Amino acid sequence: MTPPRVPALPGFDPGTVWLAGAGPGDPGLLTLLAAKALGEADAIVHDALVDRAILDLANPAARMIDLGKRAGRPSPTQGAINARLVELAREGLRVLRLKGGDPFVFGRGGEECLALAEAGIAFRVVPGVTAGIGGLAYAGIPVTHRGLATTATFITGHDKSGALPDNLDFTVLAALPGALVFYMALGTLDEIARRLIAAGKPPMTPVAIVSSASTSAQSVIETNLAHCGADAVRLQPRRPAIVAIGEVVRLRGWITRFQQGVAAPAPNAVLSA
Ligand code: SAH
Repeated sequence: MTPPRVPALPGFDPGTVWLAGAGPGDPGLLTLLAAKALGEADAIVHDALVDRAILDLANPAARMIDLGKRAGRPSPTQGAINARLVELAREGLRVLRLKGGDPFVFGRGGEECLALAEAGIAFRVVPGVTAGIGGLAYAGIPVTHRGLATTATFITGHDKSGALPDNLDFTVLAALPGALVFYMALGTLDEIARRLIAAGKPPMTPVAIVSSASTSAQSVIETNLAHCGADAVRLQPRRPAIVAIGEVVRLRGWITRFQQGVAAPAPNAVLSA
C-alpha cells in the first residue's frame, strides 16, 4: 500500500497552545494538523464532546486533562480553563486544547484565544468539521442545496442560563430561504418550533434531529415543525444532537440509500407524523 503523501506541516513548539477542532466524532474527519497535534502534544485539554475514538489516538505519554462535565460535578468555569491553558504553556509543554466540532462554532474558542493573547502565549487555531455541517452530512443532509436552500443559519438553542436566547428574531428566521441549524436545542425545541410556526413557517416543514452524528451511535429522528417538540420529549434523542429545520431534510431519504458510512434510513430513522 502506498503511504499517503502528507504536506509539510508547521512545528508544534513547546510552550505554545494549539486550539483544535476534533470534528463531530469520526476520527477520519480529523484534520492533518489535529492528528499531528494529537501525536505530539505533551498535554491534551479536552471536553466531554470529544469522542473516545479520537482521544485513543493521542500520544500515550501525553497528560490527559478532562475539563468536561463529570457526573454531578459542574464543568469548570471558562476563567479556570483559560488559567489552566496558560499555566500548562508556561511549564513549557506543547498544549493541545481539543474541542468537539470546530473550536470557533459555539465552542468558546475565541474566548480562549483572547486569554492566551493577553498572557502573551503563542497559539495556533486548527479549525474542525462542525456538527452543523459535517454531522448533518453524515445523516445525508446537505446543509445547502441549489433550488432548496440558499442560506444556512447556525443558531444556539440556549444561552448561559439554559433558556432560548432572547435576541433571536423569529420573524427573520422564519423567512430565511434555507436551513436553520440549531445547536444545543433539545431542551428548547418545542419553543423554537412554536415560535417559528407563529412567525409563519409552515408546520409541515421537515425537521431532523441527528444524535451522535458520525459516531457508531448515530441516530436520526425525522419529524416536522408541528411535531418535533413532542417527539424530542417522547423519543428522548441521545445527546449531543443537532437539529436541522428545512426542505434539505427531505433529501436524506435519497442520499442515505447509497451513502456509505451511515446506517440505512429504515432502521435508524423514526418517522413521526
Ligand atoms: N464546537 C461544536 C459545537 C459545540 S456546542 C461544533 O462545532 O460542532 C455543542 C452542541 O454541538 C451539541 O449540543 C450539539 O448540538 C452539537 N454537536 C456536537 N457534536 C455533535 C455530534 N456528534 N452529533 C450531534 N450534535 C453534535
